[in-house]
Amino acid sequence: MEKNYDFIIAGAGSAGCLLANRLSENPAHKVLLVEAGSSDRRFWSRIPIGYYKTIYNKTFSRVFDTEPCEGSGGRAIKWPRGRIIGGSSSINGLIFIRGQKEDFDDWQSLGATGWDFQTVLPFFRKLEGYKGGESQFRGSFGELKVDDLRLRHPACEAWLKAAIEWGLPAIDDFNGSESFGASRYQLTLDGRWRSSSARAFLHPISHRDNLTVISGALVEKITFSGKNATGIVTRRNGVQETYQAKKIVVSAGALQSPQILQLSGIGPATLLKKHNIPVIHRSDEVGQNLQDHYQMRTIVQMRNGMSLNIDSRNPLKMAIQGLKWIKDGSGILSVGAGQVGAGACTKYAEDGRPDVQLLVMPLSVDKPGEPLHEYPGFTATVWQCHPKSRGSVEIRSTDPEADPKIQPNYISDEYDQKVMVEGVKMMREIYHMAAFRDLWDTEIVPGSGVDSDEAILDCIRNNGGTVFHPVGTCRMGADSSAVVDPELRVNGVEGLYVADASVMPKITSANTNAPSLMIGEKAAYHILQHQLQ
Ligand SMILES: Cc1cc2nc3c(=O)[nH]c(=O)nc-3n(C[C@H](O)[C@H](O)[C@H](O)COP(=O)(O)OP(=O)(O)OC[C@H]3O[C@@H](n4cnc5c(N)ncnc54)[C@H](O)[C@@H]3O)c2cc1C
Repeated sequence: MEKNYDFIIAGAGSAGCLLANRLSENPAHKVLLVEAGSSDRRFWSRIPIGYYKTIYNKTFSRVFDTEPCEGSGGRAIKWPRGRIIGGSSSINGLIFIRGQKEDFDDWQSLGATGWDFQTVLPFFRKLEGYKGGESQFRGSFGELKVDDLRLRHPACEAWLKAAIEWGLPAIDDFNGSESFGASRYQLTLDGRWRSSSARAFLHPISHRDNLTVISGALVEKITFSGKNATGIVTRRNGVQETYQAKKIVVSAGALQSPQILQLSGIGPATLLKKHNIPVIHRSDEVGQNLQDHYQMRTIVQMRNGMSLNIDSRNPLKMAIQGLKWIKDGSGILSVGAGQVGAGACTKYAEDGRPDVQLLVMPLSVDKPGEPLHEYPGFTATVWQCHPKSRGSVEIRSTDPEADPKIQPNYISDEYDQKVMVEGVKMMREIYHMAAFRDLWDTEIVPGSGVDSDEAILDCIRNNGGTVFHPVGTCRMGADSSAVVDPELRVNGVEGLYVADASVMPKITSANTNAPSLMIGEKAAYHILQHQLQ
């Protein structure tokens, strides 16, 4: 098998698949894409509702455990990540949302020069094939198919009215000019199927001779000659292989990109010393700056069985939903993690910019992937858009197969605690608006008696969980302590890039797939520009 390439990409996730497409567009470039997981050509990673089947299933996902922390009530939280071609985009909740315009302006002001909203917008538009058509904010010619919500559940529609009654503006499009207000979410749907990064960017180019894709191979480390990255070492079925390239892009996601760098000798001096790893470049921030959205689910019990918890146990109703999906890709089988929601402002919000994101679903579970509750539950989730708390990812050993140590430090900052408490109060107020209050009878979570701020915070600590959005562990910035520069080159070495969710200097306010894809798109632009220089 060929051992020498122009580009090697480590990790075929959201960013990696897109990069493989763009970097192999020129037939003169030989590209190798290496993925630890297996093929995504499986039913459950293709059908949208498969989200609930794949999330904690080892065929599709690698499930990490965080360290316990005070913010999660001393609990370790399960963090699944896609371990399959397409990465987390093959198992995620399908919600497509860019985030607030100001999120990217923040990146720019944090030193990520050239990542302000006006500059990144064309990269978002390029990758997107929005069925609703082209506009100043939307792209319709890109490979990633995005469509409007196809299930109008009466409970979600009533909640939308209640949110508007509460005082939120109704907005047409979360990916348009506004992010403050309530709307239906859009999903990465291609006809009846999930539009993962693999389906959008990789499957259509499987004929390209200059692109090699290896699945089931773990990238163990980057090889160097002095400070020049020269290749990678992989392990597949117990066999070690080495591949060389002129440029190497690490796209293994926010948990494993820092792991690969640390194993390769790019990381905090003390950590490398502790594990006797020869230092290629001391970079103390590799693995630092970890951010995630910590979400709190509020649950009420609906009257008249108005919940998918009940519908999903009715074989006739499910058969009808199956037929709907076959006919035009609509109905229950077309849904992902949430149907409707809002960007909203607590009393702590600054400049009218939403500081909480709300996400609503006409069902309830203890956590996604587990059986739906027996009672007719309805869930409204809240997370903080701009958390200040920061965590870390560090290798535990030099074994590349071992899970890194993940400390999320959830809501360790007092400001984060206050915003989350206000967010829960907001959800309760919306439940009591006229449009919604007659549809339910019992609040299950937080539950009666949980009224003081202290009690609500306690409930958040003991019941909250991840929205699956870890980012930030290979921070991009203009300063020399940043892990990558604003064109995603790893500082201190040559020929090495990181391109995935790990480079975000600050977490975007909403779900993180769209910005991770945009990072892949912009990374390809920079890498190809550097090639010409
Ligand atoms: C369960 C779940 C639900 C989510 N829901 C949504 C949602 O609804 N909307 C949204 O916008 N976002 C959602 N997200 C988040 C979003 O999918 C991620 O932020 C995004 O996919 C991250 O992209 P990435 O390229 O950084 O990493 P990933 O897509 O995770 O890709 C990393 C890839 O690298 C591979 N890899 C890792 N280490 C190695 C190695 N050493 N060697 C070889 N390969 C390796 C992995 O197997 C994986 O395929 C969800 C995520 C999860 C897990």
